[in-house]
Amino acid sequence: MKQYKGLIEKYRKYLPVTKKTPVISLNEGNTPLIRMNKIEKMIAPNVEMYVKYEGLNPTGSFKDRGMTMAISKACEKGMKATICASTGNTSASAAAYSARAGIKSYVIIPNGYIALGKLSQAMIHGAKVIAVEGNFDVALSMVKQICEKYPIELVNSLNPYRIEGQKTAAFEIIEYLGDAPDYHFIPVGNAGNITAYWKGYTEFKAAKKSKKLPFMMGFQAAGSAPIVLGKPVENPDTLATAIRIGNPASWKQAEAARDQSGGVIDMVTDEEIVEAYKLLAMTEGIYCEPASAASIAGLIKYGKKNCFSKSKKTLKIVCVLTGHGLKDPDRAIKSVKFKPVVVKPDLKSIMKIIEK
Ligand SMILES: *Cc1c(COP(=O)(O)O)cnc(C)c1O
Repeated sequence: MKQYKGLIEKYRKYLPVTKKTPVISLNEGNTPLIRMNKIEKMIAPNVEMYVKYEGLNPTGSFKDRGMTMAISKACEKGMKATICASTGNTSASAAAYSARAGIKSYVIIPNGYIALGKLSQAMIHGAKVIAVEGNFDVALSMVKQICEKYPIELVNSLNPYRIEGQKTAAFEIIEYLGDAPDYHFIPVGNAGNITAYWKGYTEFKAAKKSKKLPFMMGFQAAGSAPIVLGKPVENPDTLATAIRIGNPASWKQAEAARDQSGGVIDMVTDEEIVEAYKLLAMTEGIYCEPASAASIAGLIKYGKKNCFSKSKKTLKIVCVLTGHGLKDPDRAIKSVKFKPVVVKPDLKSIMKIIEK
Protein backbone atom coordinates (compact mmCIF):
# COMPACT_ATOMS: atom_id res chain seq x y z
CA MET A 1 0.00 0.00 0.00
CA LYS A 2 1.25 3.46 -0.88
CA GLN A 3 1.61 5.71 2.12
CA TYR A 4 -0.34 8.97 2.10
CA LYS A 5 2.18 11.80 1.86
CA GLY A 6 0.16 14.91 2.46
CA LEU A 7 -2.09 17.06 0.35
CA ILE A 8 0.55 18.62 -1.92
CA GLU A 9 1.55 15.20 -3.27
CA LYS A 10 -2.07 14.09 -3.55
CA TYR A 11 -3.41 17.21 -5.29
CA ARG A 12 -0.23 18.43 -6.98
CA LYS A 13 -1.93 19.09 -10.31
CA TYR A 14 -4.46 21.45 -8.72
CA LEU A 15 -1.88 23.42 -6.74
CA PRO A 16 0.66 26.10 -7.72
CA VAL A 17 3.72 23.91 -7.11
CA THR A 18 6.45 22.72 -9.45
CA LYS A 19 9.16 20.05 -9.28
CA LYS A 20 11.37 22.75 -7.76
CA THR A 21 9.07 23.39 -4.80
CA PRO A 22 10.52 21.80 -1.66
CA VAL A 23 7.52 20.09 -0.09
CA ILE A 24 7.33 20.75 3.65
CA SER A 25 4.70 18.34 4.91
CA LEU A 26 3.51 16.59 8.06
CA ASN A 27 1.12 14.38 6.06
CA GLU A 28 -1.72 16.83 6.68
CA GLY A 29 -5.18 16.43 5.10
CA ASN A 30 -7.02 13.18 4.41
CA THR A 31 -9.22 13.84 7.45
CA PRO A 32 -12.34 11.75 8.01
CA LEU A 33 -15.89 12.68 7.10
CA ILE A 34 -17.96 11.19 9.91
CA ARG A 35 -21.71 10.56 9.78
CA MET A 36 -23.68 12.08 12.67
CA ASN A 37 -26.45 9.52 13.09
CA LYS A 38 -27.98 11.03 16.18
CA ILE A 39 -27.77 14.76 15.51
CA GLU A 40 -29.11 14.42 11.96
CA LYS A 41 -32.36 13.01 13.34
CA MET A 42 -32.77 16.13 15.45
CA ILE A 43 -32.39 18.35 12.37
CA ALA A 44 -34.91 16.84 9.92
CA PRO A 45 -35.95 13.34 8.79
CA ASN A 46 -34.48 13.82 5.31
CA VAL A 47 -30.93 14.90 6.13
CA GLU A 48 -27.73 12.96 5.99
CA MET A 49 -25.25 14.84 8.12
CA TYR A 50 -21.46 14.57 8.23
CA VAL A 51 -18.67 16.38 10.01
CA LYS A 52 -15.32 17.01 8.34
CA TYR A 53 -13.11 16.48 11.36
CA GLU A 54 -10.25 18.87 10.67
CA GLY A 55 -9.09 18.63 14.27
CA LEU A 56 -7.32 15.45 13.16
CA ASN A 57 -4.71 17.36 11.15
CA PRO A 58 -1.11 17.16 12.51
CA THR A 59 -1.33 20.27 14.70
CA GLY A 60 -5.03 19.82 15.43
CA SER A 61 -6.64 22.29 13.04
CA PHE A 62 -7.35 22.87 9.34
CA LYS A 63 -4.63 25.56 9.31
CA ASP A 64 -2.13 22.81 8.41
CA ARG A 65 -3.65 22.51 4.92
CA GLY A 66 -2.75 26.08 4.11
CA MET A 67 0.49 26.01 6.04
CA THR A 68 2.07 23.13 4.11
CA MET A 69 1.62 25.27 0.98
CA ALA A 70 2.64 28.60 2.51
CA ILE A 71 5.82 27.23 4.10
CA SER A 72 6.79 25.18 1.04
CA LYS A 73 6.45 28.29 -1.15
CA ALA A 74 8.34 30.41 1.39
CA CYS A 75 11.22 27.92 1.25
CA GLU A 76 11.10 27.89 -2.55
CA LYS A 77 11.59 31.67 -2.44
CA GLY A 78 14.50 31.23 -0.05
CA MET A 79 12.80 32.94 2.90
CA LYS A 80 14.41 32.27 6.27
CA ALA A 81 11.59 33.36 8.59
CA THR A 82 7.80 33.45 8.83
CA ILE A 83 5.45 35.66 10.78
CA CYS A 84 1.73 35.57 11.50
CA ALA A 85 -0.92 37.22 13.59
CA SER A 86 -2.98 34.54 15.20
CA THR A 87 -5.89 33.71 17.44
CA GLY A 88 -3.85 30.55 18.10
CA ASN A 89 -4.18 27.85 15.49
CA THR A 90 -2.33 29.67 12.73
CA SER A 91 0.59 30.20 15.11
CA ALA A 92 0.60 26.54 16.20
CA SER A 93 0.68 25.46 12.58
CA ALA A 94 3.19 28.10 11.41
CA ALA A 95 5.51 27.18 14.29
CA ALA A 96 5.35 23.45 13.52
CA TYR A 97 5.87 23.76 9.75
CA SER A 98 8.62 26.37 10.21
CA ALA A 99 10.39 24.02 12.61
CA ARG A 100 10.09 21.24 10.06
CA ALA A 101 11.50 23.52 7.36
CA GLY A 102 14.31 24.69 9.64
CA ILE A 103 13.37 28.37 9.45
CA LYS A 104 12.43 30.90 12.13
CA SER A 105 8.89 31.64 13.18
CA TYR A 106 7.47 34.77 14.80
CA VAL A 107 3.97 34.88 16.18
CA ILE A 108 1.93 37.91 17.22
CA ILE A 109 -1.06 37.07 19.42
CA PRO A 110 -3.76 39.13 21.13
CA ASN A 111 -2.78 39.14 24.80
CA GLY A 112 -5.00 36.98 26.99
CA TYR A 113 -7.17 35.49 24.25
CA ILE A 114 -5.28 32.40 23.19
CA ALA A 115 -6.42 28.94 24.22
CA LEU A 116 -3.79 27.15 26.29
CA GLY A 117 -3.19 24.22 23.93
CA LYS A 118 -2.42 26.54 21.01
CA LEU A 119 0.02 28.67 22.96
CA SER A 120 1.83 25.55 24.16
CA GLN A 121 2.23 24.39 20.56
CA ALA A 122 3.77 27.63 19.30
CA MET A 123 6.17 27.58 22.24
CA ILE A 124 7.31 23.97 22.02
CA HIS A 125 7.95 24.31 18.27
CA GLY A 126 10.31 27.16 19.03
CA ALA A 127 8.38 30.18 17.76
CA LYS A 128 9.11 33.56 19.23
CA VAL A 129 5.71 34.49 20.65
CA ILE A 130 4.87 38.16 21.13
CA ALA A 131 1.59 39.12 22.77
CA VAL A 132 0.31 42.58 21.83
CA GLU A 133 -2.06 44.58 23.95
CA GLY A 134 -4.83 44.57 21.41
CA ASN A 135 -7.10 42.16 19.54
CA PHE A 136 -6.43 40.00 16.47
CA ASP A 137 -7.14 42.81 14.05
CA VAL A 138 -4.47 44.96 15.70
CA ALA A 139 -2.01 42.04 15.60
CA LEU A 140 -2.68 41.50 11.88
CA SER A 141 -2.10 45.14 11.06
CA MET A 142 1.27 45.03 12.88
CA VAL A 143 2.30 41.91 10.98
CA LYS A 144 1.41 43.46 7.62
CA GLN A 145 3.59 46.48 8.40
CA ILE A 146 6.52 44.27 9.41
CA CYS A 147 6.32 42.25 6.17
CA GLU A 148 6.41 45.42 4.06
CA LYS A 149 9.75 46.36 5.64
CA TYR A 150 11.53 43.07 6.36
CA PRO A 151 12.20 39.85 4.41
CA ILE A 152 9.85 37.76 6.52
CA GLU A 153 7.11 35.66 4.93
CA LEU A 154 3.56 36.49 5.98
CA VAL A 155 1.67 33.23 6.53
CA ASN A 156 -1.76 34.54 7.46
CA SER A 157 -4.59 33.64 5.10
CA LEU A 158 -3.82 36.83 3.17
CA ASN A 159 -1.07 34.61 1.78
CA PRO A 160 -2.73 33.20 -1.37
CA TYR A 161 -0.99 29.82 -0.94
CA ARG A 162 -2.87 29.28 2.30
CA ILE A 163 -6.19 29.40 0.43
CA GLU A 164 -4.81 27.05 -2.24
CA GLY A 165 -3.88 24.44 0.35
CA GLN A 166 -7.13 24.79 2.24
CA LYS A 167 -9.30 24.25 -0.86
CA THR A 168 -8.22 20.59 -0.87
CA ALA A 169 -10.66 19.86 1.96
CA ALA A 170 -13.50 20.43 -0.53
CA PHE A 171 -11.81 17.98 -2.93
CA GLU A 172 -11.73 15.33 -0.22
CA ILE A 173 -15.42 15.83 0.59
CA ILE A 174 -16.38 15.45 -3.08
CA GLU A 175 -14.24 12.32 -3.44
CA TYR A 176 -15.81 10.79 -0.35
CA LEU A 177 -19.44 11.60 -1.14
CA GLY A 178 -19.11 11.14 -4.90
CA ASP A 179 -20.38 14.70 -5.38
CA ALA A 180 -20.52 17.96 -3.45
CA PRO A 181 -22.98 18.05 -0.53
CA ASP A 182 -26.18 20.10 -0.74
CA TYR A 183 -25.20 22.33 2.16
CA HIS A 184 -21.80 23.23 3.60
CA PHE A 185 -21.79 24.69 7.13
CA ILE A 186 -18.63 26.42 8.34
CA PRO A 187 -17.44 28.80 11.08
CA VAL A 188 -16.26 32.18 9.80
CA GLY A 189 -13.50 34.22 11.42
CA ASN A 190 -11.02 35.87 9.10
CA ALA A 191 -13.05 34.23 6.28
CA GLY A 192 -10.15 32.49 4.55
CA ASN A 193 -11.59 29.03 4.99
CA ILE A 194 -15.03 29.71 3.51
CA THR A 195 -13.21 31.34 0.60
CA ALA A 196 -10.99 28.28 0.20
CA TYR A 197 -13.83 25.72 0.31
CA TRP A 198 -15.79 27.66 -2.28
CA LYS A 199 -12.72 27.77 -4.51
CA GLY A 200 -12.28 24.01 -4.07
CA TYR A 201 -15.90 23.22 -4.84
CA THR A 202 -15.99 25.42 -7.95
CA GLU A 203 -12.67 24.10 -9.26
CA PHE A 204 -13.73 20.47 -8.91
CA LYS A 205 -17.04 21.22 -10.60
CA ALA A 206 -15.18 22.87 -13.50
CA ALA A 207 -12.94 19.79 -13.67
CA LYS A 208 -16.13 17.64 -13.87
CA LYS A 209 -15.30 15.85 -10.63
CA SER A 210 -18.68 16.90 -9.22
CA LYS A 211 -22.08 17.82 -10.59
CA LYS A 212 -23.37 20.31 -8.06
CA LEU A 213 -22.25 23.11 -5.78
CA PRO A 214 -23.33 23.40 -2.16
CA PHE A 215 -25.05 26.31 -0.49
CA MET A 216 -22.29 27.91 1.58
CA MET A 217 -23.58 28.52 5.11
CA GLY A 218 -21.07 30.57 7.12
CA PHE A 219 -21.47 31.33 10.83
CA GLN A 220 -19.88 34.05 12.90
CA ALA A 221 -20.20 34.42 16.66
CA ALA A 222 -22.85 36.98 17.60
CA GLY A 223 -20.31 39.13 19.48
CA SER A 224 -18.01 39.28 16.48
CA ALA A 225 -20.20 39.22 13.42
CA PRO A 226 -18.94 42.03 11.14
CA ILE A 227 -20.09 40.39 7.90
CA VAL A 228 -23.60 39.85 9.26
CA LEU A 229 -23.78 43.41 10.59
CA GLY A 230 -22.21 44.86 7.45
CA LYS A 231 -19.54 46.80 9.34
CA PRO A 232 -16.33 46.07 11.28
CA VAL A 233 -16.73 45.28 14.98
CA GLU A 234 -14.24 47.28 16.99
CA ASN A 235 -14.22 45.12 20.11
CA PRO A 236 -15.19 41.62 19.03
CA ASP A 237 -16.17 39.34 21.85
CA THR A 238 -16.87 35.61 22.00
CA LEU A 239 -15.61 32.59 23.94
CA ALA A 240 -14.93 31.02 20.53
CA THR A 241 -11.54 32.74 20.39
CA ALA A 242 -10.60 31.30 16.98
CA ILE A 243 -13.34 33.41 15.38
CA ARG A 244 -12.96 36.47 17.59
CA ILE A 245 -12.27 38.75 14.62
CA GLY A 246 -13.81 42.15 13.96
CA ASN A 247 -12.53 42.93 10.48
CA PRO A 248 -12.02 39.79 8.38
CA ALA A 249 -9.24 39.86 5.79
CA SER A 250 -11.27 37.86 3.24
CA TRP A 251 -14.55 39.70 3.82
CA LYS A 252 -15.32 40.33 0.13
CA GLN A 253 -14.44 36.78 -0.90
CA ALA A 254 -16.70 35.37 1.82
CA GLU A 255 -19.59 37.48 0.55
CA ALA A 256 -18.87 36.28 -2.97
CA ALA A 257 -18.99 32.63 -1.81
CA ARG A 258 -22.28 33.32 -0.05
CA ASP A 259 -23.86 35.11 -3.00
CA GLN A 260 -22.59 32.85 -5.77
CA SER A 261 -23.74 29.74 -3.91
CA GLY A 262 -27.07 31.18 -2.76
CA GLY A 263 -26.10 30.58 0.86
CA VAL A 264 -25.97 32.78 3.95
CA ILE A 265 -23.56 34.24 6.44
CA ASP A 266 -25.34 34.39 9.75
CA MET A 267 -24.48 34.36 13.42
CA VAL A 268 -24.93 32.15 16.48
CA THR A 269 -24.71 33.15 20.12
CA ASP A 270 -22.07 31.87 22.52
CA GLU A 271 -24.82 29.91 24.30
CA GLU A 272 -25.79 28.21 21.05
CA ILE A 273 -22.11 27.47 20.35
CA VAL A 274 -21.54 25.86 23.76
CA GLU A 275 -24.77 23.87 23.46
CA ALA A 276 -23.69 22.49 20.08
CA TYR A 277 -20.17 21.83 21.39
CA LYS A 278 -21.53 19.75 24.27
CA LEU A 279 -24.13 17.98 22.12
CA LEU A 280 -21.47 16.83 19.69
CA ALA A 281 -19.20 15.57 22.45
CA MET A 282 -21.93 13.90 24.48
CA THR A 283 -24.05 12.32 21.77
CA GLU A 284 -21.58 11.64 18.97
CA GLY A 285 -18.26 11.30 20.78
CA ILE A 286 -16.60 14.11 18.82
CA TYR A 287 -14.53 16.70 20.65
CA CYS A 288 -14.00 19.96 18.79
CA GLU A 289 -13.01 23.40 19.94
CA PRO A 290 -15.78 25.96 20.59
CA ALA A 291 -15.28 27.95 17.35
CA SER A 292 -15.76 24.74 15.36
CA ALA A 293 -19.13 24.15 16.96
CA ALA A 294 -20.42 27.35 15.32
CA SER A 295 -21.05 25.24 12.21
CA ILE A 296 -23.17 22.77 14.19
CA ALA A 297 -24.96 25.59 16.02
CA GLY A 298 -25.72 27.12 12.63
CA LEU A 299 -27.15 23.85 11.34
CA ILE A 300 -29.33 23.50 14.43
CA LYS A 301 -30.55 27.08 13.97
CA TYR A 302 -31.54 26.44 10.34
CA GLY A 303 -33.04 23.07 11.25
CA LYS A 304 -35.34 24.86 13.69
CA LYS A 305 -36.39 27.22 10.88
CA ASN A 306 -37.55 24.14 8.91
CA CYS A 307 -35.05 24.97 6.25
CA PHE A 308 -34.58 21.32 5.19
CA SER A 309 -37.83 19.47 5.84
CA LYS A 310 -39.55 21.14 2.86
CA SER A 311 -37.31 19.24 0.46
CA LYS A 312 -38.56 15.84 -0.77
CA LYS A 313 -35.11 14.44 -1.41
CA THR A 314 -32.41 13.42 1.04
CA LEU A 315 -30.12 16.37 1.66
CA LYS A 316 -26.45 15.83 2.29
CA ILE A 317 -25.00 18.29 4.78
CA VAL A 318 -21.36 18.71 5.75
CA CYS A 319 -20.31 20.70 8.82
CA VAL A 320 -16.64 21.59 9.14
CA LEU A 321 -15.10 21.03 12.56
CA THR A 322 -12.13 23.33 12.20
CA GLY A 323 -10.10 22.45 15.30
CA HIS A 324 -9.66 19.80 17.98
CA GLY A 325 -11.25 20.12 21.41
CA LEU A 326 -7.95 19.53 23.19
CA LYS A 327 -6.85 22.96 22.01
CA ASP A 328 -9.02 24.56 24.65
CA PRO A 329 -9.49 22.15 27.57
CA ASP A 330 -10.39 24.99 29.95
CA ARG A 331 -13.63 25.54 28.06
CA ALA A 332 -14.62 21.87 28.36
CA ILE A 333 -14.03 21.86 32.09
CA LYS A 334 -16.01 25.10 32.48
CA SER A 335 -18.90 23.74 30.41
CA VAL A 336 -19.63 20.55 32.33
CA LYS A 337 -21.59 20.59 35.58
CA PHE A 338 -20.38 17.30 37.05
CA LYS A 339 -16.86 17.83 38.35
CA PRO A 340 -14.54 15.00 39.44
CA VAL A 341 -15.17 14.14 43.08
CA VAL A 342 -12.44 13.14 45.53
CA VAL A 343 -13.40 10.21 47.79
CA LYS A 344 -11.80 7.75 50.20
CA PRO A 345 -10.49 4.64 48.42
CA ASP A 346 -13.35 2.36 49.45
CA LEU A 347 -16.24 0.90 47.47
CA LYS A 348 -18.91 2.45 49.64
CA SER A 349 -17.71 5.99 48.98
CA ILE A 350 -17.39 5.37 45.26
CA MET A 351 -20.79 3.67 44.95
CA LYS A 352 -22.40 6.57 46.74
CA ILE A 353 -21.32 8.84 43.88
CA ILE A 354 -22.18 6.34 41.13
CA GLU A 355 -25.68 5.80 42.49
CA LYS A 356 -26.38 9.47 43.13
C1 LIG B 1 -8.87 29.84 11.99
C2 LIG B 1 -10.02 29.15 12.58
C3 LIG B 1 -11.34 29.46 12.23
C4 LIG B 1 -11.69 30.57 11.30
O1 LIG B 1 -11.25 30.36 9.98
P1 LIG B 1 -11.14 31.60 9.00
O2 LIG B 1 -10.46 31.09 7.81
O3 LIG B 1 -10.34 32.62 9.74
O4 LIG B 1 -12.53 32.08 8.75
C5 LIG B 1 -12.37 28.73 12.79
N1 LIG B 1 -12.12 27.74 13.68
C6 LIG B 1 -10.86 27.43 14.03
C7 LIG B 1 -10.67 26.33 15.01
C8 LIG B 1 -9.78 28.11 13.50
O5 LIG B 1 -8.55 27.78 13.88
